[in-house]
Amino acid sequence: MTKALESLIELTRALGEPRLDYVIVGEGNTSLRLDEDSFAVKASGHGMQGIDASGFVTVRLAPMLGLLDNPLATLSEEKAITQAAVIGESGGPSPSVEASFHAMLLHECGVRYIGHTHPTAINQILCSEYGPDFAFQRRFPDEAVVCGPRSALVPYADPGLPLALVIREKARDYLAAYGEAPKLILLENHGMIALGETPAEILNITAMAVKAARIFLGALMTGAPTRLPEDEVWHVYRRPDEIYRRKIFVDGDG
Ligand SMILES: [Zn+2]
Repeated sequence: MTKALESLIELTRALGEPRLDYVIVGEGNTSLRLDEDSFAVKASGHGMQGIDASGFVTVRLAPMLGLLDNPLATLSEEKAITQAAVIGESGGPSPSVEASFHAMLLHECGVRYIGHTHPTAINQILCSEYGPDFAFQRRFPDEAVVCGPRSALVPYADPGLPLALVIREKARDYLAAYGEAPKLILLENHGMIALGETPAEILNITAMAVKAARIFLGALMTGAPTRLPEDEVWHVYRRPDEIYRRKIFVDGDG
């Protein structure tokens, strides 16, 4: 097993820890860009908790990106193309149905790791009308520093190609507006996606998003939540000492 795949397995197990309440049963998936042409992604039907190398497949990127440019593919065509893109012996495990959005985000956003989970605290908000408030506002400085000045918000779509296409549209809007990839993508009535350079960054974004969700829910219970002013959000996000702290967290030492 390569060191890279080992790091992905460790990240997936960490996100799958039951005490964190990020996923249950077979929910959630992770991926890692391996090189120019390929990525590793969780296989369909595996739980994240205690996963090992047999729970991952290596997939060629180009056919998966081709699927998104040819959205007329039927579900069975989509499955056939996805299965044919798997590197290794045929008849092995199938990539997750969400492999298409992993391929697209690794490519479009230029990140190395992706962690997709369905945390209860996050979904309590994303299954309500407060999704936009949670996605577009920040309530405390570390939320802005770790999760970015705002999140991309994606309306509900059928998991698979339809979802990958809406996420692509929202990721492109974010890149065009802010000149950098989102760190946190929120999927209405579904869950969250953390994008990062290291496993530590994925874990930090997920944990901070869950903390922010709990704070938002608590604020709603006690009255009307307040928010950081927009200029304060950008100020703290761009402060040199916060950029330094962010780099230490991303490297996993802080
Ligand atoms: Zn999902």
